[in-house]
Amino acid sequence: MNRKVILPGQTIGIIGGGQLGRMMALSAKAMGYRIAVLDPNPDSPCGQVADHKIIAPYNSGQAMEELAAICDVVTFEFENIDENALELAANRTWVPQGVQLLSIAKDRIKEKNAIMEAGLPVAPYKSASTTNELAEAVKEIGFPCVVKTARGGYDGKGQLVLKSDREIETAAELLKHGSCVVEKWVSFEKEISVIAARNSSGETAVFPVAENIHKNNILHQTIVPARIGNEAREQAMQLAVRLADALEMVGTLAVEMFLMGDGSIFINEIAPRPHNSGHFTIEACETSQFAQHIKAVCNLPLGKTELLRPVVMVNVLGEHQEPLLAKLPELRNWNVHLYGKNEAKAGRKMGHATLIRDSADQALLEIEESGIWTLNSMSAIGK
Ligand code: AMP
Repeated sequence: MNRKVILPGQTIGIIGGGQLGRMMALSAKAMGYRIAVLDPNPDSPCGQVADHKIIAPYNSGQAMEELAAICDVVTFEFENIDENALELAANRTWVPQGVQLLSIAKDRIKEKNAIMEAGLPVAPYKSASTTNELAEAVKEIGFPCVVKTARGGYDGKGQLVLKSDREIETAAELLKHGSCVVEKWVSFEKEISVIAARNSSGETAVFPVAENIHKNNILHQTIVPARIGNEAREQAMQLAVRLADALEMVGTLAVEMFLMGDGSIFINEIAPRPHNSGHFTIEACETSQFAQHIKAVCNLPLGKTELLRPVVMVNVLGEHQEPLLAKLPELRNWNVHLYGKNEAKAGRKMGHATLIRDSADQALLEIEESGIWTLNSMSAIGK
């Protein structure tokens, strides 16, 4: 057990300068920490609010050592970091999340194995590295199933749903990107997620269950409280904490799950960092997921996580930014966050808005009535 504590005034290094890093940095700065960020973009969302910027590729060993040399603790905002490069940082400074959790989270096969080993439920799956193994795996799992690349995929990229034998050949193309996992396609009732936090003294905390609505495989809305039964709510929160404990993780762990019609739950995937589905916590909980992450990696006592009011978070993608800005003067009590990204490409996460209302239905209605999310996505940015 590590009792080391990082205090305000000391420097936190963040690998990755995107919006998650930016919001981590803003929380950390509110507490009095200094921030150094490693990102290749000289004007990254996190770089804009950091004290030091190291402008270099994430996987540069030299940059990693440079970051470690000026930081008292190093954390990351995304998983696709080279383990060897992170190891270099870990040799020089404190990397409480560890290299092992990163290697689990960036590989769907390792991830599912780790969840199973923790005794927690995942949808039936088999791994495959060759076309023959893939055909065997599909035979065993049955149709419909989904083939996903083990590494590198996100927001539904690198995935193919199979309904019949004829599609196996197309799915085999995915093997070009490395091993794949074949998973049973489950007809879930809802997609939910839970963010757990754990510090290196072993203290855990868990945020309320979020109900997630995706569009084109990208998170669209998060509704809290999730519109699910109390038993499922309890179970989902327990699963997240059990997984955080089993992995002995430090920081925040986002656990995405499928809630089935019979009340059972499958864990779909995990992210060892703050997560888009936890942005609601910034205004709707006493402690935000970002503040909690900072407390956890600095080994401070974790904050309270109760939901203060019903809330809906809606993502602002490239195609929504202009309509949102045009409407902004009329939007009362909308907490609009924009991440400082220059180019509003369609599908790119530019920001989010959080509406705290007497009920989630009220927030959903206001979002719908704003018309911002109902415009034709491409025409909205002239593409
Ligand atoms: P993922 O990249 O694993 O989060 O998958 C992207 C989306 O595809 C999920 O949010 C689900 O909506 C859907 N999906 C993924 N795996 C399955 C599955 N085994 N059964 C049903 N839907 C799935």
